[in-house]
Amino acid sequence: RKEVLDAVPEGETHTRDGLRILTLANIGAPADAAAAKKKGAEGVGLFRTEFLFLERQDAPTRTEQVMAYSQVLDTFDEDAKVVFRTLDAGADKPLAFADLGPEENPALGRRGLRLSQVRTDLLDTQLAALAEAAQKTGKMPYVMAPMVATPTEAKWFSDRAREAGLGIVGVMVEVPAAALRSSQVLETVDFASIGTNDLTQYAMAADRLQGELSNLLTPWQPAVMQLVKSTCDGAGGRLIGVCGEAAGDPLLALVLVGVGIRSLSMAAGKIQAVKAALALHTQAQCEAIAEAALAQPTPEEAKKAALALADPGM
Ligand code: PEP
Ligand code: MG
Repeated sequence: RKEVLDAVPEGETHTRDGLRILTLANIGAPADAAAAKKKGAEGVGLFRTEFLFLERQDAPTRTEQVMAYSQVLDTFDEDAKVVFRTLDAGADKPLAFADLGPEENPALGRRGLRLSQVRTDLLDTQLAALAEAAQKTGKMPYVMAPMVATPTEAKWFSDRAREAGLGIVGVMVEVPAAALRSSQVLETVDFASIGTNDLTQYAMAADRLQGELSNLLTPWQPAVMQLVKSTCDGAGGRLIGVCGEAAGDPLLALVLVGVGIRSLSMAAGKIQAVKAALALHTQAQCEAIAEAALAQPTPEEAKKAALALADPGM
């Protein structure tokens, strides 16, 4: 295992037969970008921009945001994929300056894009700052909205982002409705990124913060993998990534590639192990592993079936 890890080259990631897979980092602050690059990240698959907004009395100004976004864009090459997720706040991550009042079920309330639709001022400043950062750095940022459930919401966001001057617009798929109807939901956007943390929570009706429910909350749940596959099946050639914790599990990454995922974003510390796993397997092997895993009734059996077909080096 150690030898395999050491043998993994820096830079681009491919399967054993040369299928290109993007391996990217999830970050929460601009300074994380450089650290992630050192650990082998080719770009950023998820910048959780809400961390710039939390625990403050006022929203960050446009100028502050331009600086933060430019720093991330400047870290990577011209053609790197660097994805900015617009503000994902709501009742569970409350903002002093955007309080819509208490909610009985915050996870099902006005969070993510739903908050942006009420506080368009916050969203528009963020989109304008990102467009300005793009101009300033000469880079092409990707921008995506969290918690998109319907084609109407996707179009609303896409129109607004494009009006602001942004060219590569996407949505997160983390609500089962969007995964099931991806061909319609993605019609007006260029790419999607699957948030397996929330997708699992909503598919299994299990609060992601409740540790006692961990057996329901694993992304190895065949129902969750099926939703990932459904998203890819309806993608119409668009680049579909995963940016939930699932992407950092080397064995599960093979399953994800096997159902059509071509971009994996994870905690930077997991990138080398995922690259190593991909380099050991062909696309056809990943597809066989995914098919076997998806045919199982339980997460345990899915994992076992995947491992049985994986390279013995795993
Ligand atoms: C997810 O839901 O999987 C995701 C990547 O977003 P967050 O964990 O920030 O909700
Ligand atoms: Mg999420």
